[in-house]
Amino acid sequence: MAVLEVHLLNNGYFTLPKSLLVYGKYFGETYQAALKPLLVVTEEEKILVDTGLSSLPERHRRFHKISQSPEQSLEAQLKMHGVKPDEIDIVINTHLHFDHCGNNALFKNAKFYVQAREIRYAYASDRFMQNAYIREFFDKELDYRLLKGKYKITDGVLILPTPGHSPGHQSVVVSVENTKYVYCGDAATLAECVERRNIPGVIYRADQALDSIDRLRAIRNAVYVYSHDNQQLSLPRRA
Ligand SMILES: [Zn+2]
Repeated sequence: MAVLEVHLLNNGYFTLPKSLLVYGKYFGETYQAALKPLLVVTEEEKILVDTGLSSLPERHRRFHKISQSPEQSLEAQLKMHGVKPDEIDIVINTHLHFDHCGNNALFKNAKFYVQAREIRYAYASDRFMQNAYIREFFDKELDYRLLKGKYKITDGVLILPTPGHSPGHQSVVVSVENTKYVYCGDAATLAECVERRNIPGVIYRADQALDSIDRLRAIRNAVYVYSHDNQQLSLPRRA
């Protein structure tokens, strides 16, 4: 079914060392990272890509400060577009790091599309990646549909595997007429990841992360959405 509307939501911000966003750069700098799930409305479905964040468990609060006005809560952001959480049919999690699945529990009626590798790893991550996964965010009675690779959700909404930042990371391509909105997820945290081929600072496999960036760069008529770029708060213009 054709895509009718695409909206970039503004779910507030969280702080993190900027060196976690780009590999080998920005040591000692703190960055106010934007949280920006994407709402896609087709003729048949309401689709949400990533679920942002609302609060953090106590043990994580000293590492990240969340700044979110009431209007920036995910419920309020959806309401601005006339959508209630119960009405979301499909959630796509690019991956299960805490800042991308923090509100999964809100979407009781949704099918959740996640790569099988990602969910497996989320439950049993390596020591160096454990802080990125918060089990209480994803380990819920939700309808997870496990994917193995590329997957077409519907006409105009395609899931593309982009591993590297995490083992089962995926990006989403939303086609509206001739434009392809490429929701990079953390395959490209900031514009420089795509523009200068800089891989993310949080990294599971660097070689795969660079391949994934190149896969995104090869998409024609692409308009990229960078997961945490706080200068890009609305959908860029069409190609
Ligand atoms: Zn992230």
